[in-house]
Amino acid sequence: MQEELLHSVVKLTKTRDVDSLESSLLSTIHEFIGCQKISIYKSTLGGDELTVECSLSFEVLDDKQYHWQESERILSPSSELLSCLHSACIIAIQGQDGVERRWIPITLSDKPIGAIAIVSPSLSSADQVLLNAFCCIYENYLTILHENERDKLTGLLNRQTFDKKLKQLVEKQVVNHHKTLKASEDRKQYKETVSWLAMMDIDHFKQVNDSYGHVCGDEVLLILAQTMEKFFSSTDLLFRFGGEEFVLVFEPVTFEEVESLLNDFVALVRRTKFPFVDKLTVSIGVAKVGPYDFPIHILENADRALYAAKENGRDQICFFESLVSCYERPAGDEGDGVDLF
Ligand code: GH3
Ligand code: MG
Ligand code: MG
Repeated sequence: MQEELLHSVVKLTKTRDVDSLESSLLSTIHEFIGCQKISIYKSTLGGDELTVECSLSFEVLDDKQYHWQESERILSPSSELLSCLHSACIIAIQGQDGVERRWIPITLSDKPIGAIAIVSPSLSSADQVLLNAFCCIYENYLTILHENERDKLTGLLNRQTFDKKLKQLVEKQVVNHHKTLKASEDRKQYKETVSWLAMMDIDHFKQVNDSYGHVCGDEVLLILAQTMEKFFSSTDLLFRFGGEEFVLVFEPVTFEEVESLLNDFVALVRRTKFPFVDKLTVSIGVAKVGPYDFPIHILENADRALYAAKENGRDQICFFESLVSCYERPAGDEGDGVDLF
């Protein structure tokens, strides 16, 4: 038993990304503790709204078949799960059938960020000790993986994780697109939504450093990142891409929705009071994320739109798709004078 346990810990800590860590954790728990179902829940707080997602779930079906369920948004989390997430305490209840349901909190930097839920007909005290130990190993390892994905100054996602995160988002987009099309009775009424990528750059940031020093510049970067985290949804991906450059990837929304959201953010930055700096503005270039586009091409498109936003006076957003349609306008139509590339 001890040898098997050691092997399972080695297997768990061999993984290099959160997804394989999670599937490894669930199969290990199932191997050592008899259970009917185990799920990993993740919660994110955006503003006052708590979003709960079941990131992975494993169920033993009646006929001893296994069922894996990936990433599903939970619209009405159970009261026990919510209590576990709010209190960061273990919650356990036993049904009349004797089956035990247990929620174990997962914390990152002392903040509850999720829970492991287990349904089991019997949990001995030795099982409980083992279960808690596995959850602790998961929590510790998750902390290391999480820190590797983050930018040290702002805590936003770093550039190294960009390709992987974008790929995951696009794969989800393809699956959801098919589901929505299937579910939509009248395809004519189907409202097309796509993902969007925005590249944001602080205007004249060099002047901030030159006038007030690098430390003040860092403080401005940190406050801007915190403003982004508060303003955007917890499901949007926010990256610090380079010095004063950020990349944002949005879940599918319409053109009008993303346009209005980003215009609101540009206006919010304009009226935000940053330390020392009188006025700070940002420019944003936006491009569509098609399910079959290469990440490098999407970035190039957003970068071209950002360049156009800078050329056009800064403190504004510009869509790559608008640049293209402006470029394709028939002869004689002068447009608004933005040069394409
Ligand atoms: P533009 O409006 O054209 O974007 O002008 P800009 O001054 O923002 O652009 P430029 O590329 O000339 O300068 C970017 C500056 O960002 C230069 C560098 O001093 C600063 N910078 C880059 N990384 C960091 C960082 O981590 N901390 C601080 N404080 N400054 C940084
Ligand atoms: Mg800049
Ligand atoms: Mg720049």
